[in-house]
This record gives sequence, structure tokens and C-alpha cells, in this order.
Amino acid sequence: PINVSKSSSVAKIKVVVRKRPLNRKEISRKEDDIITVDAYASSLTVHETKLKVDLTEYMERHEFVFDAVLDDDVSNDKVYNETVEPIIPAIFQRTKATCFAYGQTGSGKTYTMQPLPLKASQDILRLMHYTYRNQGFQLFVSFFEIYGGKLFDLLNQKRKLCMREDGKQQVCIVGLQEYRVSDVQMIKELIERGNACRSTGTTGANEESSRSHAILQLVIKKVVEAKEPFRVVGKLSFIDLAGSERGADTTDNDKQTRIEGAEINKSLLALKECIRALDNDQVHIPFRGSKLTEVLRDSFIGNSRTVMISCISPNSGSCEHTLNTLRYADRVK
Ligand code: ADP
Ligand code: MG
Repeated sequence: PINVSKSSSVAKIKVVVRKRPLNRKEISRKEDDIITVDAYASSLTVHETKLKVDLTEYMERHEFVFDAVLDDDVSNDKVYNETVEPIIPAIFQRTKATCFAYGQTGSGKTYTMQPLPLKASQDILRLMHYTYRNQGFQLFVSFFEIYGGKLFDLLNQKRKLCMREDGKQQVCIVGLQEYRVSDVQMIKELIERGNACRSTGTTGANEESSRSHAILQLVIKKVVEAKEPFRVVGKLSFIDLAGSERGADTTDNDKQTRIEGAEINKSLLALKECIRALDNDQVHIPFRGSKLTEVLRDSFIGNSRTVMISCISPNSGSCEHTLNTLRYADRVK
């Protein structure tokens, strides 16, 4: 069982980097692994090969330090223990928490993100059944996608959704399907259904998912008075962000791709600004920059916790994207 008192000692923002192993394709291309991890020092080094004017090679080293650095042999269970598990108890105490996976397409965002909501809901249900027994808590799940600045319900056949604010700074997504879940099997089926819905786009599975942000929310509610509807106690959002390299698609030949690239770029920049504002306890948080940050508005105010998992590919061919990801993470930190 989880230690409930843990929550008070958890930092408001945690930035973790996860390196994936070289894959078979990269090995067959004889690509080097250019990332060395020092897990104890929470640091990593990127070994970049550069060319001098006379075309001889030299090595440039870039060192980064984060709250934690997870090497390529770290299991998904360990990732959960490092990132989400410590914030679970706070969800029962009016906290809104958000866990992001950031990185280029193919760096392991979905691999990292997919198991987390299931493990989290297991722990939440366990706390509800034991520690907070008979206190009227209920767990709800929803799953939607932001694609080209528009919202689509992944648990309701990609129905288009719109968003409004209720005046109390709570975000309301009109028509979003929310399922009340009471056991792990049910949540497992819903997550699988949402994932399947996500990857069956018309323009090809990987293509479309790399251009969208997928948002899975676990919401804890409680009946306060008999005649009142459920009241939100806490929220835990898991966000599998669009491929970070897609934000650079602003010069593509295809107009639709350019528009989507601009939207992704805007949302990732706005996200960074919001997390930094949060960290500095700024009164004004710049949500209005993008659909993504507007949707997450209520998770950036009051008691909030943010975990950013930056996923990186180890191969030499990804060096530039990897450095971009690490610089982004460094600025969020
Ligand atoms: P992204 O969502 O960032 O585009 P994926 O999560 O789809 O990337 O990962 C790309 C590929 O690499 C997948 O085949 C995935 O199974 C594999 N992969 C990613 N991270 C790891 C890891 N830590 N260990 C083993 N395989 C991984
Ligand atoms: Mg993915």
C-alpha cells in the first residue's frame, strides 16, 4: 500500500528523461549510441560528432542534469515508481496532476505513457477501497485527442467536442464521455478502446498519432451532499504529446501539414511557458496560447503537480532532435 504522507514532500514540477535502447534498424545501419547516462548523478551526456572546415571529425559533449535520468534498461514499472506513484495520494487532496511524455516521434512516448494510467488507477482504486473506505470517492475516466487544434472523443467514436469554461475556472468539455470505473479490468478495456480509436485514422496510423496530443484523464469525484451531483476532488492527466519534431513542419509543401505543424509548435511553446509560470508561482499563467493549455487550464492553478517525461532516442541520426528535446526539458526544469 502507498504511504499517504509522502505527498507533501513531492516537488511541484519534476523533469525526468528516459532513454530508449537502440532498435534493430539502427543497429543494422551501424549507428552509434551517443547517449551516456549517469543515473546516480541524474545526468546524461550527448556525444555529438561535428565536422571541422577541413572535414575532419571532432566530438562535442553536452551534459544535462535532471531530476532523474532513466537509462535504456529501466522497466516501465520503475518509470511509474519514479514519476506518477509519488503523486497519487495528493489526488485525493484537491490536487490536479499532469504527466506529459515529450519527444520526437519514435523516441518512446507511447511506450512510456501507455502503462501509466492503468498502474495509477490500480493504486487509486486500492486507496479508495482501503485507506479511504466509505468516504464516497468515485473514479471516472475520459480519453480524448487534440488534432489540428480540435478535440475528439476517443471513447466515443472520435466525436468532435468543444470546450467552455464554467466561470469557476473549471474546464468543461461539452459532451465528453466520462466512464465511472470500479475495477481494473474495466479501465483496461476503456484504455484499449481509446488507443485503438486513436491509431485507426484515415491518413495512416503512425502519421496521425504523431500529430496529435492524446489526453487520458482520471478524475476522482465525491458526493458532497445527497442532492448535489458529484464534485471533482482531484484529477490526474496523462498526455502523450505530438512528436516534437512536428512543430517544425511549418515549411512543408502541404498546406494542411503546415497548419498542423504551426498548431503543434504553438502548443508545445505555450506548454513550456505555462509550466515555467507555474514553477515561478506566477499569478498570470499564459493558457490562452493554445488549445492544449486551455484544456489543461484547471490543472495549472491551485494545487498542481507536473511530471514531464522527456523521451530520447539514442542513435546518432537523432542527435539534433535529442538535443532539442533536452533543451526544452532543461528550460521547463
Ligand atoms: P513515440 O510514441 O514517441 O512515437 P513509441 O513509443 O511508439 O514512440 O516507440 C517507438 C518504438 O520503440 C516502439 O516499437 C516501441 O516499442 C520501442 N520502444 C520505445 N521505448 C522503448 C524502451 N524503453 N524499451 C524498449 N522498446 C522501446
Ligand atoms: Mg506515439
